[in-house]
Amino acid sequence: MNYSLRKKNKIVKYIVIHYTGMKNLKLAYKKLSNKNSNVSAHYLISRKGIIFNLLCPKYKAWHAGKSKWKNITNINDYSIGIELENKGHEFGYSNFSKGQYNSTRKLISFLKKNFKISNKNIVFHSDISPNRKRDPGEKFFINKININRFKKKKIKNKYSINEMLVLYGFHNSYIKNHKNFCIEAVKRSLNYNNINSTQSKKFLNDFNNLLFN
Ligand SMILES: [Zn+2]
Repeated sequence: MNYSLRKKNKIVKYIVIHYTGMKNLKLAYKKLSNKNSNVSAHYLISRKGIIFNLLCPKYKAWHAGKSKWKNITNINDYSIGIELENKGHEFGYSNFSKGQYNSTRKLISFLKKNFKISNKNIVFHSDISPNRKRDPGEKFFINKININRFKKKKIKNKYSINEMLVLYGFHNSYIKNHKNFCIEAVKRSLNYNNINSTQSKKFLNDFNNLLFN
């Protein structure tokens, strides 16, 4: 199988954005809709902007794998998975197309209304599995789909990097074990081209702005 039933007490509250990371659309479509593949997603959006609904969101798709966000593990239980066609870092990572942004924006706004999902619960695969995954990556610009995940809230002037990572959504135990990967994931969401775990002044400043501006 490549999907399962949702448990009654596990309701959808997250949307997870991925890229397919495969050589072409046909391969991605085939894999994600093959019952023996062990992976699936609810939606696949082609470079032309066509939205394929591969699985009804009332079922649990298997897209995130081992994952953790805030204090929740196994994000598949609580999420809808959207795959964007892109060869990915392995086969030739390219910019996402205008059609993809348009369709992603429309689909997410529909899902947000239907499942009452808030902006802060729209996450990247690299957020919830930062030690294993880097999709959708630094070429995905979330502001192009009119999402601001962070509310303005200024509580004090100076935060440590760990405090900022918690505010971003990483769980303390995750930060403890995978701090460098968490920083790399944040850099990707800040659309840095050069991704490493260095905490430069510029990074701290940009991270601060992402959370509080
Ligand atoms: Zn993914």
